[in-house]
Amino acid sequence: MSDRVKFLLDEARLPTHWYNIAADLPEPLPPVLHPGTKQPIGPDDLAPLFPMSLILQEVSTEREIEIPEPVRDVYRQWRPSPLYRARRLEQALGTPARIYYKYEGVSPSGSHKPNTAVPQAFYNKEAGVRKIATETGAGQWGSSLAFAGSVFGLEVQVFMVRVSYDQKPYRRAFMETFGARCVSSPSLETSFGRQVLAATPDSNGSLGIAISEAVEVAAGSDETKYALGSVLNHVLLHQTVCGREALAQFDLADDYPDVVIACTGGGSNFAGLAFPFIGENLRHGRGTRIVAVEPVACPTLTRGRYAYDFGDTGHMTPLVKMHTLGSTFMPPGFHAGGLRYHGMAPLVSHVRALGLIDAVAHPQLACFEAGILFARHEGIVPAPEANHAVREAIDEAIRCREEGVSRAILFNLSGHGYFDMQAYTDYFAGKLTDQSYDEQELATALAGLPAV
Ligand SMILES: *Cc1c(COP(=O)(O)O)cnc(C)c1O
Repeated sequence: MSDRVKFLLDEARLPTHWYNIAADLPEPLPPVLHPGTKQPIGPDDLAPLFPMSLILQEVSTEREIEIPEPVRDVYRQWRPSPLYRARRLEQALGTPARIYYKYEGVSPSGSHKPNTAVPQAFYNKEAGVRKIATETGAGQWGSSLAFAGSVFGLEVQVFMVRVSYDQKPYRRAFMETFGARCVSSPSLETSFGRQVLAATPDSNGSLGIAISEAVEVAAGSDETKYALGSVLNHVLLHQTVCGREALAQFDLADDYPDVVIACTGGGSNFAGLAFPFIGENLRHGRGTRIVAVEPVACPTLTRGRYAYDFGDTGHMTPLVKMHTLGSTFMPPGFHAGGLRYHGMAPLVSHVRALGLIDAVAHPQLACFEAGILFARHEGIVPAPEANHAVREAIDEAIRCREEGVSRAILFNLSGHGYFDMQAYTDYFAGKLTDQSYDEQELATALAGLPAV
């Protein structure tokens, strides 16, 4: 067998429930705090931004949460997603390792993000919401919510981080195809955006700024809600459909991963693949090693502080305990836009603090090199974000070769890179560099963390 091998589940075996890791944690997640009183917030505090069904998922400790049938029906358009064995890549590396990848690029927007966009749109529609405001970094989340909004008949407004808006005009056209309105952020449409533009007219924008703009729009209208594409517990919950499928596919393959790898921006594709395997570790004594991979230029889990911080730059969100670089930290404009967030999902930070996962950081050029090697053997061009997972998977396969052991490696190919070819063009033209963040700026941002 020399070609890549596919492990396909039929539609009938689409998971019926999401997996909620909160049920299995050895210690509960630290509470979310009100930014003014510093007291734990309750479900009602979040009601202006989210429908109650999602808020209840946010705080749920039930292990299994049923996927509504209308959501499963949309999932079936592309799910279960394929699990591939990367035989050709293994041969090229001369490794005894068994490399598998879960391919989330088969979705309508080309990444894992519709796994949560679809249920979020469904629950909002069910609650009578008319419009959703959101932010997008690389454009993946905005594209996914645009698709989900069109399925359920919701108006969608997307604040897109300016550096990506300028780099990726096709993303905007994609969102408009699904009827969404896409605005460059910082924008003149919100008071926070106007404030940022007045201070820094040439601001590159950041996810933190775009989140503030979308929250401002949602908080200002009764029939508008807000949606986040990563970080929150309910988002990570929805993504576990991916890891649950992978567990069933490993049964088909008659194998089981020794190492699970995924890139982390806000933590959702990582959690989606890894949490069901962490659940197996916790409940059944499995010993799978779980690795989060982030960019050296935005090293939240490896260099950030585990502390209470705001989720946005404008300080409109509640305080959550997470690994953070500080909410004012502005990462350099590197090409994995989806990984440019200053914080991390509280659940991912928590399992990191509990020692249940490892974290590593890789520089941009080494990630593109890995992604290109992968493309040449597997025929899929990965998203720049996913290249971080590819890099770590290849490094792990090389370690297997050096140690002379065969481990099963599973990584999340969180999306394809067909909207990101400008990044590859820049790489081939020698224009990409290994940018580092500004140590001084990081120190300043960390010094500004709220006192709790
Ligand atoms: C958004 C995105 C990411 C990063 O977000 P997470 O919430 O950390 O998963 C990674 N890969 C792709 C393809 C993305 O679109």
